[in-house]
Amino acid sequence: MNLILLGPPGTGKGTQARLIADRLGALHVATGDLFRNAVKQGSELGARAKEYMDRGELVPDDVTIDMLFDRIDQPDAQSGVIFDGFPRTLQQAEALDKALAGKGKAVDAALHITVPDDEIVRRLSGRWLCPDCGAIYQEQTQPPIKAQLCDDCGNELQQRDDDRPAVVRARLEKQRPPTEMLDYYRGQNRLVDIDGAQAPDDVTRDLLAEIERATTRISN
Ligand code: AMP
Repeated sequence: MNLILLGPPGTGKGTQARLIADRLGALHVATGDLFRNAVKQGSELGARAKEYMDRGELVPDDVTIDMLFDRIDQPDAQSGVIFDGFPRTLQQAEALDKALAGKGKAVDAALHITVPDDEIVRRLSGRWLCPDCGAIYQEQTQPPIKAQLCDDCGNELQQRDDDRPAVVRARLEKQRPPTEMLDYYRGQNRLVDIDGAQAPDDVTRDLLAEIERATTRISN
């Protein structure tokens, strides 16, 4: 099984991708994590990617595709991959199809987690951090016991600059899956919309049901 999880930030995509990979015994591959590791290791690739990441822009397709292909050529990726954060452009989607076809494989489904913009802004802009110990709170789902204060050390909580509502909206515009890429998968009957505004467990249930449906379709 090779599956893609698509959706803007704030949809719970990364958490769901990890859960699904665990359940299916597949490898979770997140290009954001691969880039962050490359930056940490101080590699040439990391240095190149960092320029773009710091500006919140996409790393060029050729760099991203080469890095991703290196990862999925490894032995642990041969029985299935859950792609998280890749593809982000039509060119990446086409390149992935070509690479998998060369191995007699295919993307079985592109699972698109959708959440209304206002809800995403509410989720991301409700995140508060303790500047001292780094604890993370969420106004709606995981509030501190005393408003604005860290449960562990009592410090006043702060909001990250890029979690302020206006910045979240701008990030959302830049990081939304492009229509041409969604149309590409939709045109091949591989796009499945999943309601990401539900509780996380319900999102997982819907994802697993759609994966089951895709597997049945392929085996028939
Ligand atoms: P993420 O953790 O998915 O939000 O990714 C962090 C950053 O890594 C993004 O803002 C991009 O700069 C870069 N990145 C991750 N995946 C891709 C991709 N498929 N194409 C281009 N850039 C990417």
